[in-house]
Amino acid sequence: MLIVGAGFGGICMGIKAKGAGLSVVILERAGDIGGTWRENVYPGCACDTRSHHYSFSFFMKSDWSRRFAGHAEILEYLHNAVDAFELRDDIHLNQTVRALHFDEDSSTWSVKTASGTAYRARFVVSAVGQLNQPAWPDLPGLETFSGKRMHSATWDTSYDLKGKTVAVIGNGASAVQLIPEVAKKAKHLTVFQRSPNWVVERNDRAFREIEKTLFRWIPFWAWLYRSYFYWRWEKSWPEFITNSRPAKKKTAQLKERVAQEVNSSELAATLTPKFPLGCRRILLSDDYYPALQRDNVAVETTPIERLDANSLVTADGIHHHVDCLVAATGFHSHDFLPGVQVTGLGNADLHKEWENKGGAEAYLGITVAGFPNFFFLYGPNTNLGHSSIIFMIECQVHYILKTIDLLKRKGGSAIEITHNSMGEFNRTIQQNLKRTAWAGSCNSWYKSAQGKIINNWSTHTVGYWLRTRRPIAGHYHVK
Ligand code: NAP
Repeated sequence: MLIVGAGFGGICMGIKAKGAGLSVVILERAGDIGGTWRENVYPGCACDTRSHHYSFSFFMKSDWSRRFAGHAEILEYLHNAVDAFELRDDIHLNQTVRALHFDEDSSTWSVKTASGTAYRARFVVSAVGQLNQPAWPDLPGLETFSGKRMHSATWDTSYDLKGKTVAVIGNGASAVQLIPEVAKKAKHLTVFQRSPNWVVERNDRAFREIEKTLFRWIPFWAWLYRSYFYWRWEKSWPEFITNSRPAKKKTAQLKERVAQEVNSSELAATLTPKFPLGCRRILLSDDYYPALQRDNVAVETTPIERLDANSLVTADGIHHHVDCLVAATGFHSHDFLPGVQVTGLGNADLHKEWENKGGAEAYLGITVAGFPNFFFLYGPNTNLGHSSIIFMIECQVHYILKTIDLLKRKGGSAIEITHNSMGEFNRTIQQNLKRTAWAGSCNSWYKSAQGKIINNWSTHTVGYWLRTRRPIAGHYHVK
């Protein structure tokens, strides 16, 4: 099996596939493993899912330092997993995959990398994730700005913000983590907000030694703790259903929170979204509202019109002079396997097929008709708003190995989801998504340019778990 990417998904797949007796090669474009937790090093970068819940069920860590671990600790956890399961020699670093081609005669995939190395594999798994291509704002003059310019995902840790005048564009999940940290150091910070987001309490804190000792000596306690948060978040799923009673109740609570925590009613109004709760990612923060109320911080809502050599120019003609511009403006999230040409049966081009359908789609987010022996982790329609993506990845890894088992049982060389099954699945999921908050009137990275929701799963995670226990043989064509 050839796996593309050595982040959470690729590592999980590698461990489980090796455990199932498959030989594994993982190709990683960077010089280290870790994916998003290697790349994102902005100040305050941490996971907004609880650490015990955002880790492998089969490799639990008892000594997480905090309820919400920082990026360095998560990266260290992944390194420990790679070593514990002896995966390191199977990971080929600095290998950027450029092309995947299915050879129908041999039922194998030929894989080409940027360095010219070629591989051949019976099975290919894409584990590159959804958020790996930083998106810069499309603003005239961006290139002419001569001050320091950083994207949240390409942070320069050697740059000292102390005493600097800084602008942050954006206020999504990355921005709410970095803004409080930047505000502590900068002389002045202006946050350019296009539209506000719903923010819930994070209640983060360091674990006490006694808690870590309990987790270490009573693994059942650690398991209970993890399960508690799984079910607590799962229970919140109805908040994502448009106009549901839980959604209305939570919305009222969050409006109340802004009003209570933000002293100025004008700022509170600026920070209160008009779109439904959950339409965009619900953010978790304890220090975002306090940071915005510091004397050295201003929130600017006048749209940015352009940049010049040393300032952002807003639509009212004001020049905001800054030393440093931070774009916390998210990612290109719709490509799924960006920069890789994928050709399947009859030389079908995966990216062109998706373009013709108005956006990416797959069966259970895992497999695509016309592309046998090829699987996705964290593929189309598998992102969540309310639970841990590691849970989804483990479901997908389980399903892929069960599908390979099915192929072996049938004595075939290639297995492919039928066009009918995939079509039916996607019609149903798009129908179900219409009743969710994601279909609401907001911009989000969950929707394609045509407005189709292509990133998110349509219901609770138990539903996904049930559907990924085993493949239905009748949904597959085996060669
Ligand atoms: P994002 O949610 O896509 O937010 C991008 C922000 O940039 C938005 O506030 C957007 O405004 C703004 N923006 C974009 N172009 C702009 C422009 N021209 N002018 C003004 N504002 C502009 O990106 P993100 O914060 O990096 O988060 C992306 C995803 O990464 C999250 O949803 C989450 O899934 C993941 N993430 C997770 C964690 C974690 O702790 N697990 C942490 C960080 C990120 P509009 O909203 O008005 O479009």
